[in-house]
Amino acid sequence: METITKQPQVKNYIDGQFDRNGQNSMDIISPLDGTVISTLPLSTGQDVDKAVKAAKKAFPAWSSMTFKERVQIFFRYRSLLEKNMDELTNLVRIENGKTYGEAKAEVEKSMELCEFAVSIPQIIVNEVQEVSKGVECRIERKPLGVVASITPFNFPNMVPHWTVPNALVLGNTMVMKPSELVPLSTVRMAELLKEAGLPDGVFNIINGGKEVVESICDHPDIEAVSFVGSTKVAKIVYKRATSNLKRCVALGGAKNHLLVFPDANPEMTASNVVASMVGCAGQRCMAASVMVGVDKVQHIIDKMVIEAKNIVPGENLGSVISAEAKKRIEAYISEAEADGATILVDGRNTAVKGKEGGYYVGPTIIDHVTTDMSVAREEIFGPVISIVRAKDLDEAIEIENGSNYGNAAAVFTQSGGLAKQVMERASAGMIGVNIGVPVPREPFSFGGWNESKFGVGDITGRSSIEFWTQNKKTTVKWNPEARTNWMS
Ligand code: NAD
Repeated sequence: METITKQPQVKNYIDGQFDRNGQNSMDIISPLDGTVISTLPLSTGQDVDKAVKAAKKAFPAWSSMTFKERVQIFFRYRSLLEKNMDELTNLVRIENGKTYGEAKAEVEKSMELCEFAVSIPQIIVNEVQEVSKGVECRIERKPLGVVASITPFNFPNMVPHWTVPNALVLGNTMVMKPSELVPLSTVRMAELLKEAGLPDGVFNIINGGKEVVESICDHPDIEAVSFVGSTKVAKIVYKRATSNLKRCVALGGAKNHLLVFPDANPEMTASNVVASMVGCAGQRCMAASVMVGVDKVQHIIDKMVIEAKNIVPGENLGSVISAEAKKRIEAYISEAEADGATILVDGRNTAVKGKEGGYYVGPTIIDHVTTDMSVAREEIFGPVISIVRAKDLDEAIEIENGSNYGNAAAVFTQSGGLAKQVMERASAGMIGVNIGVPVPREPFSFGGWNESKFGVGDITGRSSIEFWTQNKKTTVKWNPEARTNWMS
């Protein structure tokens, strides 16, 4: 059992220094046992302005370094993630409530994201062509300037790594606003980046909530904003940042549908569906939320019930983020029950011995859910799955397509033909075939459809290279004898 230790006060990080000015006015609570582990400043627009000034000052020197020089820092940084794996894993664990294995997987994924970032010089080879005799055109990718990244609570280590390595390697400088619920991993990230040799001012952190986000969206010297969080806030941020003429990509919430057919391998399907719904306590934007059982799938549901009952909260199931989250999730289950659904496994009123102050919800399987119920439509963000029955493929697809969201969808079958139909017809950005959490691994990019994402392109991979850069086109003539470019 881990020790939930008090952590140093969280401070803003501006120009390579931890800033003492911010007023520490919010407690950071470990959801594992409900104890206060640190405090956080709720910063203002003035703090954002200080960080933007530092980032702006650092930009000319940072952006004029060669790719090779910038990348060396991220080679060293990736090694530091590996070296400090145990400490970083425990930090995620105590601030977010994950199991050790889940928290470690998050840091490992951050290392993979750095591996993509250090490969960017191999991907970007700028184009040059002789367009008329002696006249040459070239196109180069240039950084935007000061950019911002706003992150949610559910992946304190990994989600910041979706944006920071790529944006910085590409020559931008950044102001980061982590979730006020889990700022500790981002603070550690700043320390390790400095240790890896990142110049001061290139990466800055401003802690807080709504006011910081609004100031970022309004600041005239911020060129681009990336956001990850709920759909409600993604819409606010996307509208505000773009109305201030900034680039924005804003990833929102999810309601992922898993379509299960009777011919699916029962053991593999049951364990995949349950792992997808309970992993990270269901607080993953890729988590299974609705299982569409097509035709006769009772034998698979029976196995899911056995699997779910073997899960022990506090051991192989972490906590949810807060007392409010626990209350919200339990209210969804009670509402479904009152609406006539059958609770096959009930995770309400779960407590963990020795951690009575923690926020635990056990695995919950709700059967005979209809598409008008809130548990079929809304994001619950807990270890809960709603089973909706469908008679055939067409009805199953109609149910999936009926969701406002569109992050992920998956199909479980042994039929290639059925799988192909779902791959083509599901309205989601990331599709799994016999995989419950179809997160694309690097270099494949991450991003959903519909109300799960606003803006063009994805947040990682090649798409992010487009997002964090602009093209400069140059036409050159050195040879005085050369004929002029026909457009000149
Ligand atoms: P959230 O939207 O509440 O918060 C995200 C960020 O927005 C935080 O930094 C927060 O301080 C800020 N914020 C909150 N309310 C705000 C407001 N009114 N105005 C301006 N800023 C505000 O999300 P969360 O609860 O931290 O994270 C969970 C959500 O994130 C879920 O909906 C989940 O699906 C989603 N998520 C999506 C993805 C994805 O890739 N699509 C990935 C991870 C999480």
